[in-house]
Amino acid sequence: MPFAPKIAGLILSSELRMPDFSQRFLFDDSDIRGELVVLHESYQHVLAKHAYPQPVAQLLGELLAAAALLVDTLKFDGLLVLQARSAGAVPLLMVECSSDGDLRAIARYHAEQIGAAAGLPELMPEGVLAMTIDPQNGQRYQGIVSLDGATLADCLSSYFASSEQLPTRFWLCADGQRARGLLLQQLPADRLKDPEAREASWQHVATLAGTLKTEELLGLDNPTLLHRLYHEEPLRLFEPRALQFRCSCSRERSANALVSLGQADAELLLREHAGSVVIDCQFCNQRYAFDAADVAQLFAGGGSEAPSDTRH
Ligand SMILES: [Zn+2]
Repeated sequence: MPFAPKIAGLILSSELRMPDFSQRFLFDDSDIRGELVVLHESYQHVLAKHAYPQPVAQLLGELLAAAALLVDTLKFDGLLVLQARSAGAVPLLMVECSSDGDLRAIARYHAEQIGAAAGLPELMPEGVLAMTIDPQNGQRYQGIVSLDGATLADCLSSYFASSEQLPTRFWLCADGQRARGLLLQQLPADRLKDPEAREASWQHVATLAGTLKTEELLGLDNPTLLHRLYHEEPLRLFEPRALQFRCSCSRERSANALVSLGQADAELLLREHAGSVVIDCQFCNQRYAFDAADVAQLFAGGGSEAPSDTRH
């Protein structure tokens, strides 16, 4: 009984209340876990801040879904930053996802170099993806993923296959409206101790996921999608976890950035910019303006205190 109707109904009603969420599932008869990510509003917020060409919007959506999947997989409190760089048409994609489910993202691109149907190899040739885990407590970790696959999902899957991490496979897609992701991960041997049976079950589950069409991943709700793939495998689908767009910028952080320049440079900036230094947040387009009186106040009495008002 993989899908007791009562449980499926409960989860469906949660889905309706929550536009963006991640949701775990666990196979009962093998040591494999999975995760699904559904992004709609947060993805729309990201796209509303900048007019990205469709191929850039798609890549950024895939990276958003990847970040949300990874945050749940890595189990830490803090911030995950995915930063993809290349010398091609898309020099930068950046996504941040906190362990609280706060997402923000930005892309830089050269419009004249973007073709209509360009994928990852065309847009980010010889690219690399830096994956930084910045925990609230403990050491920062960075992994480097080479972007030499046909898709972002392929690149992440081969990174996990070649690293010492648990085997993990990714499926990602985005269409400018919604972004979705699926992850499968092999857990340490517990239910299936025989290495051959373990490998066979992993291959079976991954092969079935590989049959998923883009329109199915984009269009189906999670219970339907899992039923279509795994109706013969008993599995449990857990409660969804909310994800949302939220920018971590603030007037105080912008003020701290000015203070870190030092008084002389901050005053030089003021003179160069007609008496008002404006700091724009690239993630959410919020503007923070500081005039001569603000700057003087920042550096008065040691200069560590930022004014708490929010003038724009
Ligand atoms: Zn912001």
